[in-house]
Amino acid sequence: MLDRLAQLEALARTLEPAHAERAAYLEAAAGYADDWIERLPGLAGYVPDDAAAVEALRGSPLVDEPADIGEVLTVLWEGVDRLGVNETAGHFFGFIPGPGLYTSALGDYLAAVTGRYAGIAYGAPGSVRLQNLLLRWIGGFLGYPADAGGDLTSGGSTANLTAIVTAREAAQVRSADIPRTVVYLTAHTHHSVGKALHIAGLGEAIVRHVPIDHAYRMRAEAAEAMMAADRRSGLRPWLLVASAGSTDTGAVDPLAELAQVAAAHQVTVHVDAAYGGAFALCEMGREMLRGIDASDSVVLDPHKGLFVPFGSGVVLVKNREAMIRAHASAAPYLRDAEENGDLISPADVSPELTRHNRTLRLWLPLKLHGLAPFRAALEEKLLLARYFHQRLGELDRIEVGPPPDLSVVTFRLAPGDGDPNAANRALAQAIQADGRIYVSTTVLGGKVTLRLAVLNARSHLEHVERALEVIVELAERIPG
Ligand SMILES: *Cc1c(COP(=O)(O)O)cnc(C)c1O
Repeated sequence: MLDRLAQLEALARTLEPAHAERAAYLEAAAGYADDWIERLPGLAGYVPDDAAAVEALRGSPLVDEPADIGEVLTVLWEGVDRLGVNETAGHFFGFIPGPGLYTSALGDYLAAVTGRYAGIAYGAPGSVRLQNLLLRWIGGFLGYPADAGGDLTSGGSTANLTAIVTAREAAQVRSADIPRTVVYLTAHTHHSVGKALHIAGLGEAIVRHVPIDHAYRMRAEAAEAMMAADRRSGLRPWLLVASAGSTDTGAVDPLAELAQVAAAHQVTVHVDAAYGGAFALCEMGREMLRGIDASDSVVLDPHKGLFVPFGSGVVLVKNREAMIRAHASAAPYLRDAEENGDLISPADVSPELTRHNRTLRLWLPLKLHGLAPFRAALEEKLLLARYFHQRLGELDRIEVGPPPDLSVVTFRLAPGDGDPNAANRALAQAIQADGRIYVSTTVLGGKVTLRLAVLNARSHLEHVERALEVIVELAERIPG
């Protein structure tokens, strides 16, 4: 057995590279990352899948022998990173653009190396304290009280789920109540909310789509009328989900008015600010998000408005006790970990137990850059969207949507003789194939509509000017 152990140990020890090897790996990985960042401005907004990518992965199977990092990084580029949407580029304006702060990637690296057990306060008290500090900072600029519960999640979808499960617990919605329990949202509410209701066992609740106004915002008086009617007919109005920046159009529902309406009917208010919440960091955004502090829970995605890489959501809940009741559990093998002092373990307010330590990807950039550039970048995005909307509105043949509440602008090619939806699809496809910028489409009132979303930390005036140029140039080639 000892011979066998010695044999196994020799091989197992190769999993822990020595200093010189670590340094070489790090240099190779950092070089790859640098090349990526240097290349990014010249990459197309979208690169379609191709045979070379399939071949790159097929030609590099998992085998017993070690591979050279240079070769591995070549496969990574050829087979993976070269393809798909380039969310992290300044000229990317599709969907809600992605992130990619370099300093955040360093935070992830350090978190992975140091391996603090971030889900349990006993395992990583400092990490939990750091998480609380970050949550309190975010709660601070959203106007939430210091004793609100919260969690750093993997994204907005899980954050919405946590908030909805908490709201269910707070209102003691039992299975027999579900068919008469009513949820109010709009046609523009993010689909992750419907998904969360379903996962939370509330798929049989009544969901009302409250009508929207000309700028795609929920109409507060319509919500009020629906709640009153539902109460008269013996139903139980329970939850109103407002959007603070809908993904589709960037519209901000009238948060203050909706909070009043909901309070009058004892309805819980959840604000989905996954896209828009970070704008509250700057004065102009704070004004747009007025009333967000009156909600019962809120969700914000740092991997959108705080520019960190994918994998970061935040949920804040005023009723901390309900959040714990909805999520806490115990296990015999975790007995040693129950001694938490006054710190609440993230595992007790989340469906997760073991998790990546998500604090450093947020903390490191906030510390290393300071808060001022974040505030500036967010106001910059708001102004870039307004500038784009104004300039686009001066063009012939382009119809612009309402002035942007935040940083999404909708527009379409004015209908000529042909099918306007086909013309707009053709324009979007031409822009995506051209590659100099990327915009995506949606359907508003049955009309295919293009949308430009400015939220990349790397997007500046030159990129918006380029977008205007490309749109004008390619629109001219569409007949109509
Ligand atoms: C992006 C988004 C979500 C979903 O968040 P993920 O991080 O993608 O899970 C939810 N709501 C809104 C308004 C969003 O923009």
